[in-house]
Amino acid sequence: MSEEHLQFGTQALHAGYDREFVARASSIPIYQSAAFDMVSVERGDRLSSGEEQGFSYSRVANPTVDTLERRLAQLEGGISAVATASGMAAISFALLAAAEGGGHIVSAAELYGASVDAMETFFPQFGIETTFVDDINDLAAVEQAIQPNTRAIFAETVANPSTVVTDIASLAKLAHRHGIPLIVDNTVPTPYLCRPIELGADVVVHSTTKGITGHGNALGGIVIDSGNFDWSAGKHPQFTQEELVVSDEEHGVWHSFASAFGKEAYIRRVRIKYLRTFGAVPSPFNAYLQLIGLETLVQRVRQQVQSATRIAQYLQHHPHVRQLNYSGIGTTGQADLVRTMLPKGVGQVLSFTFDGTAEQMNRFINATTVFSYIPNIGDSKSLIVNPAKITHREVPRRLREVAGVSDNLIRLSIGLEDADDLIADLEQAFAVAFS
Ligand SMILES: *Cc1c(COP(=O)(O)O)cnc(C)c1O
Repeated sequence: MSEEHLQFGTQALHAGYDREFVARASSIPIYQSAAFDMVSVERGDRLSSGEEQGFSYSRVANPTVDTLERRLAQLEGGISAVATASGMAAISFALLAAAEGGGHIVSAAELYGASVDAMETFFPQFGIETTFVDDINDLAAVEQAIQPNTRAIFAETVANPSTVVTDIASLAKLAHRHGIPLIVDNTVPTPYLCRPIELGADVVVHSTTKGITGHGNALGGIVIDSGNFDWSAGKHPQFTQEELVVSDEEHGVWHSFASAFGKEAYIRRVRIKYLRTFGAVPSPFNAYLQLIGLETLVQRVRQQVQSATRIAQYLQHHPHVRQLNYSGIGTTGQADLVRTMLPKGVGQVLSFTFDGTAEQMNRFINATTVFSYIPNIGDSKSLIVNPAKITHREVPRRLREVAGVSDNLIRLSIGLEDADDLIADLEQAFAVAFS
């Protein structure tokens, strides 16, 4: 069935699933199979070269995982997607595929900690350098950071934990003026709240561990290709060089990823080179959990935004809160941008600086009982964490300060409990901390 005419909430339940293929099962089967019968030598050859997309070995493609890829590609408005074992695998693949071969990345400084660490200390070991821009919405600063070998610009739609919103449309225009693709981490809002491809982003990545799975029960990531960027224009020679894996040596037919796959050159390279080589594939069972999570994405995120807004309002004027960060109620001075870019809200993550000593802050965190002390977001359960010590520990102090991750910052991820219980839990924890 073609799902393009369907609304987002309907697609979240049906996109990418061909029931006829699987005895009309209501729930997508878990294809717990390492490999698949290729049937004939001729078909085996087509499958191996990528000429025919199908199933032969689960490191490259699996029917349960394929359904997740099709569904998320549709929900983000992309042409194709590659699911990975975690969000960090997706981010690493997406950035390396763009910058491999001595490229340079321009990135927002306000990012998930492991993303900063990858670009700051690890990618340079592979010859890929990154310039971090303190304020990604300062387009003059972004432009100044661009070098002749810049191969990608990277940002998060809504930064975790500051909730600062990136103006994707303006950044995409600037990137494209320089012939550079824009890669966006859309984990915090999920495609229900924002679809960066519609705003001009070329590639979208997710940690599907978070809001997409929604129950804290599976790790996952995904790279989604808009199909809009021309990877053969000259800045990315890896797409126009001939490669044996997509060619037919025997008959002397040579291809590059661009000549073999056209608009899908990028995402096919992610699958055929990165997924096949590094092997960070999701298990069929984890893909299944993510598909089940997606079925309630709209309902979960809608309620979480509602509760997060109430909790933000409660914290905003609290005597023990120095500063609240939640773009959804205008604390980042981006009310106009939020209205146009994220009219349904900015998500379930918010953060605040605790007005007290380190010891009082520890007592506060330890005293919560409805909130769990867990380094995750987007769970159906509400979570609390101290990012400076946990999720952003590997980020150098200078970049931590740019991202507003001070030692007394507390991050909340609002789940599906009753908002009254969450507010009462915070209130009693404040009382314990200051008793
Ligand atoms: C959690 C997270 C990641 C990393 O994803 P994993 O699934 O934990 O590997 C990347 N970006 C953002 C914004 C995240 O919240």
